[in-house]
This record gives sequence, structure tokens and C-alpha cells, in this order.
Amino acid sequence: MLQQVNGHNPRSDGQAREYLREDLQEFLDGEVLLYQLDDLTRVNPVTLETVLRCLQARYMADRFYTNAGCTLVALNPFKPIPQLYSPELMREYHAAPQPQKLKPHVFTVGEQTYRNVKSLIEPVNQSIVVSGESGAGKTWTSRCLMKFYAVVAASPASWETHKIAERIEQRILNSNPVMEAFGNACTLRNNNSSRFGKFIQLQLNRAQQMTGAAVQTYLLEKTRVACQASSERNFHIFYQICKGASEDERLQWHLPEGAAFSWLPNPERSLEEDCFEVTREAMLHLGIDTPTQNNIFKVLAGLLHLGNIQFAASEDEAQPCQPMDDAKLPHEEDWMESDLPKEDSPLPGSVRTASLLLGLPEDVLLETVQIRTIRAGRQQQVFRKPCPRAECDTRRDCLAKLIYARLFDWLVSVINSSICADTDSWTTFIGLLDVYGFESFPDNSLEQLCINYANEKLQQHFVAHYLRAQQEEYAVEGLEWSFVNYQDNQACLDLIEGSPISICSLINEECRLNRPSSAAQLQTRIETALAGSPCLGHNKLSREPSFIVVHYAGPVRYHTAGLVEKNKDPVPPELTRLLQQSQDPLLMGLFPTNPKEKTQEEPSGQSRNPVLTVVSKFKASLEQLLQVLHSTTPHYIRCIKPNSQGQAQTFVQEEVLSQLEACGLVETIHISAAGFPIRISHQNFVERYKLLRRLRPHTSSGPHSPYTAKGLPEWCPHSEEAMLEPLIQDILHTLPVLTQAAATP
Ligand code: ATP
Ligand code: MG
Repeated sequence: MLQQVNGHNPRSDGQAREYLREDLQEFLDGEVLLYQLDDLTRVNPVTLETVLRCLQARYMADRFYTNAGCTLVALNPFKPIPQLYSPELMREYHAAPQPQKLKPHVFTVGEQTYRNVKSLIEPVNQSIVVSGESGAGKTWTSRCLMKFYAVVAASPASWETHKIAERIEQRILNSNPVMEAFGNACTLRNNNSSRFGKFIQLQLNRAQQMTGAAVQTYLLEKTRVACQASSERNFHIFYQICKGASEDERLQWHLPEGAAFSWLPNPERSLEEDCFEVTREAMLHLGIDTPTQNNIFKVLAGLLHLGNIQFAASEDEAQPCQPMDDAKLPHEEDWMESDLPKEDSPLPGSVRTASLLLGLPEDVLLETVQIRTIRAGRQQQVFRKPCPRAECDTRRDCLAKLIYARLFDWLVSVINSSICADTDSWTTFIGLLDVYGFESFPDNSLEQLCINYANEKLQQHFVAHYLRAQQEEYAVEGLEWSFVNYQDNQACLDLIEGSPISICSLINEECRLNRPSSAAQLQTRIETALAGSPCLGHNKLSREPSFIVVHYAGPVRYHTAGLVEKNKDPVPPELTRLLQQSQDPLLMGLFPTNPKEKTQEEPSGQSRNPVLTVVSKFKASLEQLLQVLHSTTPHYIRCIKPNSQGQAQTFVQEEVLSQLEACGLVETIHISAAGFPIRISHQNFVERYKLLRRLRPHTSSGPHSPYTAKGLPEWCPHSEEAMLEPLIQDILHTLPVLTQAAATP
């Protein structure tokens, strides 16, 4: 419903609004009060430049949050500001009669979202979508919201029955350090970069108390286990173990101090995130006991040793490549009483230690990595073919990725079983979405394609749910309105995921046909089949086969080399079978021997089953997420990174500008500035304000007022919309009376 309730006229001509003259004057008079503009809709005129200047002025004045109509812009302060996130401040926002009147804050969004659940007659699930580029503060903001709800939505029952550490809110908060230890890593852009997407559903009961939560994760960057870009690191947990293990644990896990591991680059960097104790403590509170934890860490240490296995190329193709003697580790006996089998083994220490820690027979582990088995012919005869060196490396890496990804999924399920409420103890939820932001590197591949595809989908959700819905609603209600040109990204989504032909379908097709195909051929196929798309670009200057997608946030070049193979993400069946032989209790649980094996096996020639590719799995999980988001009332927080060095008090205009452009903030502000800030359905409006009817002063409406004549009917049909107008007028007249009544003892 859209009505002019307070004389606020929607701007119809794009001209400066009268009442903003003052601000404009101040703006021109030397920007005295620019930093005081809490809402970017009040910047005048709304252009990239004025928005940028306002944000800069606020940033320099330590005002990190700014409203942009329906969106909250959060600038990363890159410095600790404890008073800005104190429980006292949380309570202040929670207790405020109108939190939106307080300074813009992530707590305002948190509180409004919370009240939305509470105040409506039919409770509606809510979601908060936190977006922004890597290092902008998405995870920080989501954590902050979780802490906020842990304070304002704490259930008194849990106070009575549990010790603090066992309370559900605390357990939910404990999921953060655990998931970050296993899923975050230090990258060039962010020392604590999330390498997975996360949607957490905070579950509330009828009394709006948090009774549990459920976590869903997306696309863990598992390749990082075995391959880290230069100057980047592996997942935090590996460093935590190596730095934080006790002497005893070092012995058990074969981690001598100062040992060098190929998969543990840049260990000298000391990060706040390297605290093993915090992870262990949190795991304990989530119900993962010490023996299970030790088992996990032992397996992870096994992966580090696995990474140290290096193969020498074999001169004879018929002979397997042999592992080289590893000089990286000090020889076992030099530093400890080894618990490796005493007999003289010809195998290098890395193979022996990895086997021991992973509970696998040495020779079987080695052979599985060295030799490929192929089943062929009617009888499915088994042939054994030694792999060339590069393939041995791939198989070793694949083994590590397989274990790590299963372990991560298992951890998420354990966390869920620890924090998830019974279905009958919650009725509504607030969903927090923290996904990787838009990415564009010099070399982009399937990972970036998936990430940017997800961002396109979320942008479309934003556009569809807010911008388009609002504009269309204005048109339907006949409001005078000048349409803002928003960037609709449907064409880009058609290019990526559309049917019948799109980039995804073409890459999937290559996987299905399982034919040898070069990177150049894939480029040609994409360019030919999708030539008509306005979002497909091609840079003729590029020497490497690639294609360009013009995303809403800018063009990105994707290299086609390796794209199909990555999309297949093949797991040689021998590797799964190998892990099913493990004697390690954790691995036995992760790789059960039942025939309904979940892993995707390498398609052997003419596979009859459709191949479940990375892209198709990702697409399915994305669609599921979007379905959930569509069923909620969304709220948006756009995190902005003021500089790429992570420095406090530094605002680099060009960098912020490109982020503002990427998220279409100016268009959002235009629409918000011109529109009505509050939208409420007829039904809810009537239910919510019918109480006022009784206090209505006699002067405000005559006895023939349509709604008094009819009582309060069930209003929804459009024909009766007109009836609301007198009711609104009444409320406006009644408010002073109501206030007076409240003030009178
Ligand atoms: P990625 O996409 O790489 O996961 P992100 O958007 O999740 O990035 P964060 O990890 O949340 O980024 O933030 C990066 C760093 O910025 C944090 O580790 C923290 O040091 C700092 N930071 C972010 N927000 C705040 C804040 N509100 N106050 C203080 N520091 C902050
Ligand atoms: Mg993050």
C-alpha cells in the first residue's frame, strides 16, 4: 500500500527537493555538515561523486554506517572500536522506540529485522543479505549480527537451565571460530578470507527467542588444501595445529617444530586467527570431545605429510613414478622416538608418516596414487596403468581435497546437530547470508565463474525484490513517478545459466561428452553459440583462450584452460576405495563402505548416468538458496572496503568508487529517495492500528466515514483501497490524542 501519509511527495521530476535546500547550501558552503548526513537519500544531488564525498566525510569522522534508503552501507573501519559493538549499545538499539532514529548501525538493521518478525500478525521470515568484496567486512558484520541476536533474543529458559558456555546462543556463536578455522584462509585481499559461502538461519520461537540455528555452506574452495597462490596460505586450522600443538601432540601427530611442509606456505606470518586454543574450546562446546578433536588434527597432520610426497618422473612409462626422499623434514629418529614400523622401509618418511596418520597401508596408499586402474571390456577387466608424474601429483592432491571436503561437510553437520532446534521449538527465522563477493583476477577460472554467478543471482534478487517491485507497485498504484534506469542483469544470467544454451550448459556438455577438447575449442564453441548475447565480450588481444562476461559489476575474463576438467571434478574411484580401507576411526566414518557411495566417480568412457558437475551442483544449491530468500523479507547491508591495504583512516576514492558502481548504489538511492520509506499490507495495517479507532476524536471523521459505517471489514480487495484514506487521516489526527493519553497518569 502506498499513500501519502505525511505530506512527503514522491519526487517525480528528478529535481532537487525543496526541503533539501539547506543541506545543499551547507554542502556548497564547505561541506560543514556533510558527515552528518545519516542517509544518502539526503545527499543532493545524488551522484556517484556526492555519495562518495559524503561517505568519505563520514569515514574520516569515524561514522562507518550510513543508510542508503533500504540498504545500509557499512565502511570497514579497519580498527577495533569496542564501544561501537558493546552489549550496552545493543540493548540501547533494542530498547529504542524507533531505532531508525538512532545513528545508522548494523544494530538498526538487526533490530528492525527482529521487530518485523515480531510485529506482524502472520510472522514472516526475514533475511539479511550481506554483500561486498573480499575484505569488506561481510563476515565481521554477520558475526556482529549473531552477537546482537544472542543478546537481544536470548531465551530466559536457557539462562536458568544451562551454564553460560552451554547456552544455545553461546553454542551458535561458537560455530563461528570453528567454521572460520576450517573454512577461512589468509589471502592477498584479506587475512581472514572466507573460502566458502554461508547462510545461517537463526531460529526463533513464538516469543521471538532464539532457540537454535542451522548452517548451510556453499562451494568450499577445497583446492586450497593442496594448492595455494603465492603469498597466500592454506586454511587457518593447519597453522593452528602446527603452532599450537603441545609437545605430546607434536609427537603423536609427527609435527616437529620448524618442519617445512609444502602445503603450509608462509607459516612465519603470525595472525590473530592462528589461535588453536579458541578453536578447540569452541569445538568442545559444540560437543566435539577431545579424542574426536585429536583424531581430526591427526588426519590433518596426515594431509600435511601427504603434501610432502614428491614424485620423480619415471624414465620407463611402464614403471610407476617413485617418491623422492624428502629432505624437507628432519629425519624422524633425529627428533623423536618414532612410532613408525621399525623394519627398514625403502619408502621416504613422508609416505610412511602420511600412511600412519591416515590409517592406510603404506604400499596401498602409494600404489593408489601411482597407478591408475581402468575397467574395460564386457567383463570389466581391470588394467593397471602407471601414471605420469603430473598425474601422480593430481591424484595425491585429489586425495587431500576429498578428505578435507568430507571433513568440512561432516563438521558442518556436527555443528548443525549441536545448534539446530527441534522443529516444534521454532516458528520463524532470521537468515544471515555471507557469501564471497564479486571476484575479478588476472586469471579467472571456474571458481570465479561460480562466485560471480552467485553474485549475479543475488543482485537480481535485490533488483527484483526491491527496485523492480517498488517501481512496478508505484505504477500500479498510479503514483506520479519518473522511472529510474536500473541495470537489469537478466541478459547476463541468460548468458551464464540460461536455457537451452549458456556458458554453464556448454561446459556441462563438454563434461558429458567426455571428449578431448582443447581450451581454444571451448572458447570457439562459447563464442559461436552465444554470439548473440550482449554480455559476452571477447578481447582479441588475449593470447590465452578465454571469454569475457560483462557482469553487472564489470567485465571479467575467464580462461578456458582447465575449465572442463575442474567442472568434472573427477574423483578416481580407486581413491575412494582406498579411503574405505582406512583403519582411522574418523576416516572410517567419513568413507563408509556401503554400496550407496555418494562420491562422484570418474566417468568411465560411455557413462550412462548424467554427470553431476560442479556447476550443476552449485546451480542447484543456489536455486535452493534463492527460493529461501524469496520466501523472506530481505534486508541489505553493503560492505565497502575503503582501501586494499587494510589501513585505518585511509579512504581511497577510486577503490570505493568502483565498489559503489559495482553494487549499483546510486540507483538504489534514487529509488529510495523518491519513494515511500514504509510499505505495509492493508491487512496488517488495519490489524495493527485498529486500536486507534477507539481513541479517534469525533472531529476527525464524520459518522459516514466508510470504515465506521462498515466496521472494520477484511480489507484486501483493491476496490476498497479508498477506504484507507480516511482511516489514515484519522490516525494522523489521533496520534496527538494518543500521546496525551499515554502521558496522563
Ligand atoms: P571475504 O570475502 O574475504 O571473506 P569479508 O567481507 O568477509 O571478506 P571480513 O573478514 O569480514 O571480510 O573483514 C576483513 C577484516 O576487516 C576483518 O578481519 C577485520 O579485521 C576488519 N573489519 C571488518 N569489519 C570491521 C569492523 N566493523 N570493525 C573493525 N574491523 C573490521
Ligand atoms: Mg568473509
